[in-house]
Amino acid sequence: MGDFAIALHGGAGTITPASMTPDLEIKYKAALSDAINTGHAILASGGTALDAVEATVVSLEDTPLFNAGKGSVFTKHGRHEMDAAIMCGETLKAGAVAGVHSIRNPIKLTRAIMDHSDHVFMSGYGAEEFARNHNIVFEPEAYFFDPLRYQQWSEVRDSDRFILDHTAGEEKFGTVGAVALDQHGNLAAATSTGGMTNKNYNRIGDTPVIGSGTYANNETCAISCTGHGEYFLRAVVAYDVSCLMEYKGYTLQQACEEVVLDKLVKFGGEGGLIAVDRSGSIAMPFNSEGMYRASRSNNEQAQVAIYK
Ligand code: ASP
Repeated sequence: MGDFAIALHGGAGTITPASMTPDLEIKYKAALSDAINTGHAILASGGTALDAVEATVVSLEDTPLFNAGKGSVFTKHGRHEMDAAIMCGETLKAGAVAGVHSIRNPIKLTRAIMDHSDHVFMSGYGAEEFARNHNIVFEPEAYFFDPLRYQQWSEVRDSDRFILDHTAGEEKFGTVGAVALDQHGNLAAATSTGGMTNKNYNRIGDTPVIGSGTYANNETCAISCTGHGEYFLRAVVAYDVSCLMEYKGYTLQQACEEVVLDKLVKFGGEGGLIAVDRSGSIAMPFNSEGMYRASRSNNEQAQVAIYK
């Protein structure tokens, strides 16, 4: 049995000490550390990277602090539309959903699509019908209502602006994701989001697009992104990191830095990513003010951080 490692993010954006209260910081750190310990416990007992990233993302989807699952932001039409994806680095199998409503844990639906269908990517009503047939839990609209997120949306609902939720106003929230290496040497990645505040209905970001917001390949690394999806889509960010390793022999750190701190900056794409390679090295670069993040390898204590 080999080394194992896990990392997660809870979104990147204009997250500064000045925009945070001590109380809120404690809550964020507790949620990040609970989630990383959930995934770590699965890996420590010999579980798979896929199970670890799924459980970690479920833990983050269940807290209203982050823009995924329960905490999803409002669309232009005052609803919640969620995107998510999961990928297995060993088999290159993947499952993804876009624009689903009412699903408590979209990441569980992506896992069901990956494990129990011949498809990779489902959207809207078809995805929800598949969910019903696979005992995925639904919640009423009220479950997803959060007063702070409603206030964020109210500030921009009459405009054409759509914003990274953690860049709006005082309160910061964010897309969630996890990447892991298990003791069997397999990698996996998972990402889940409510998208961007005031996004047009049926707008889809980078999160569920395999190769843009989410990617895993045992030959290179596992990656989960967060940031302005329109840029991450066009820059094919996650696959670009993997390609730099595969075709140019870059280390994980070099590949991540080139994509996030150089290419994306020149392109104008705000955000960051988390990545792990098959030796258990972790990289968590971001070009924004902050990124909610945590990591834990083998028997180390959890590392939790928010700012630069
Ligand atoms: N990447 C997500 C999107 O564009 C947003 C985020 O990461 O917060 O939908």
